Amino acid sequence: MKVKVDPDECTGCALCVDICPEVFEMLDDLAVAKQDEVLSGTEESCMQAVEDCPVEAIRIDG
Ligand code: SF4
Repeated sequence: MKVKVDPDECTGCALCVDICPEVFEMLDDLAVAKQDEVLSGTEESCMQAVEDCPVEAIRIDG
């Protein structure tokens, strides 16, 4: 499973970092995925962040 934050959509609210700090971090006021591949064991909280992102800026692949 791969994950990406769309920088054009992200508002920098940091909610995804609160929900899943294993996968997301803030960089220059926007969230980014620390790595493309979601590590096993973090998929569930990652999906929670995808669902809770207020602007649906997080994309999942595969
Ligand atoms: S929850 Fe969505 S809008 Fe908020 S920082 Fe994360 S990706 Fe950006």
